[in-house]
This record gives sequence, structure tokens and C-alpha cells, in this order.
Amino acid sequence: MKLLLLSVLLLNSLFAFEYTLSPTKVNSNTYCFFGLPEVMNEKNNGNISNSCYVNMGDSYIVIDSGPSYLYAKSTHANMKEIKDLPISYLINTHGHDDHYLGNAYYKEIGVEIVGSKEFKNVEIVQETRMQSRISKEAYAGTKQVFPSTLVDGTKVLELNGIKVYLEAVDKRAHSNSDIFIHIPKYETIFAGDLVFSERIPVIRDGNLNNWIEALEKIKTIKAKHIIGGHGEIVDKSSIDSTYNYIKTLRDKVAFALEDGDELDDAVNNIKMEDFKEYKTYSEQHKPNVAIAYRKLEWEQ
Ligand SMILES: [Zn+2]
Repeated sequence: MKLLLLSVLLLNSLFAFEYTLSPTKVNSNTYCFFGLPEVMNEKNNGNISNSCYVNMGDSYIVIDSGPSYLYAKSTHANMKEIKDLPISYLINTHGHDDHYLGNAYYKEIGVEIVGSKEFKNVEIVQETRMQSRISKEAYAGTKQVFPSTLVDGTKVLELNGIKVYLEAVDKRAHSNSDIFIHIPKYETIFAGDLVFSERIPVIRDGNLNNWIEALEKIKTIKAKHIIGGHGEIVDKSSIDSTYNYIKTLRDKVAFALEDGDELDDAVNNIKMEDFKEYKTYSEQHKPNVAIAYRKLEWEQ
């Protein structure tokens, strides 16, 4: 019997997938698991986005749950080693699957999940994009679980006497469901995918003008740390590369449209020298130009 149990355990551990994650201390209250500057694939198993834990004194709040159940479980195990506090809230910055597919883990341990009211419109699908791109083992246990507390406008949480402001962006910016989180006492903003540092922003689901507007709003807020949904720059300058990229892209595409350039010409001619060093430039820049062209053409 003992032998059987042992072999079952051994077999289980042979097949069980484990992420290798370690948190980075951003400031005295905040730890982040920074994702790789890559597109999701079977090698990184979706570990491409950021998930952060904020110590509020007597509990943690978690910003984004990552790409899978096992990823979320691993972040929590890491944080328990640092300090084993209960988790009061998980906040989803938006409805893209690399940011919320870890929700099932937090639901299982009884955490209240908060996100944009637009989550009401996220579809339950046969197979998520993440599921089709990462290994079965890494995706094990993952389900589409949506926030139970929905935010429209501003929501204020108060934890241990510290205020946490959840600001829903009221127009489609990076997505239709962006929320940024501001903790004035810690001078920290979690911007979700409104901010990509060290990576090309993905505008597939976005609106350039509204995105610029949302970033301009964030820029007016006094903060020491602005932590994006991707990338490891965590001071105020993290916002600059996304802001410059989106603005330059909008201006260049608008100019091409005015000039009567065809879509293909715009895609081939519009380059961004300052961003060429980024790992995702070769994969994402041309699709971004094409999307920007179609969207701006439509708006004209
Ligand atoms: Zn996103």
C-alpha cells in the first residue's frame, strides 16, 4: 500500500508542471512577478505579464492573476514564504487572458475578485487563446473565472486605514475594460496594460486617442512608482515608452492617411527606430501599424 502511494505520488510529481517564478521587491510594500518580454508560447507558458502583491499591513491585495491556475498558485506560494498574510482582494486590470486566467486559483481560496463592469461581456469560449498556445500541463486547472465585484467609474477600497483607488477608464483605451489602481499612501500606480515597458504595446484591442488620454490622466497623478502590465521599469518613466510609441504611431499613420498612402505602403514604410531593440518589435510593430491605419481611417 505504501509503495503504491509512493509510486502514485512520484508519478504525479513527474507529470505536474511547475512554473519557476520569483518575486522582485519594488518598494517596501510591493512585490511583483515580472513576465518575460515575449509573446506567449509553450516555452514561457504564458509567463509574459506582471502580477503584483501589495502588503497592506494585515492583508495582501493582488494585481492581476496571470495566465493560468498553476501560475497563480505558484505566485502565492512564493509570497507565503515572504510573509503569509491573507489576501483581501484580487484586482483584474482588464479582460485579456494573460492577466486574469489565474482567477480560478484565487476563487478556490475564497478571495474576492474585482474588475471592470465590462467583464460582463467577456465570452466563455471553448478554448482560450492562452490554452491554444501553452502546454496542457501548464494550463491544468485553469478556467475562465470573472470578477464578482464589478467597477464602473471610481471604487475606493480601504484596507487597514489605507485607501486604494480603482479607476475604470470609461472608454476603450488598451482594451474596453481597463482599470488602473492608485495607492496614494504608497505613491504607487498599477497601470495594467495601459503601460508596457521594454516591449511594444499591443493595440489589437485598443483605441489610440483614448489610450493617449488615459496616459495623460495618469501622468497628472503624483506617484513614485508606475507599474505596467508588462515590463520591469517601475519608476515614473515606465509610462514614457508606451506614450511615445502610441503618440508617434498615431501621428505617422494620420500623416500617411492624409497623404493618401495605401495600407500596405503604410505598413512597410512606418518604422519606429527608437523601438527596434525591443524583442517583440519584429512580431508586433507591423500588425500595430495595420490596426492603427484601419482604426484611424474609420475615425476620419
Ligand atoms: Zn492586455
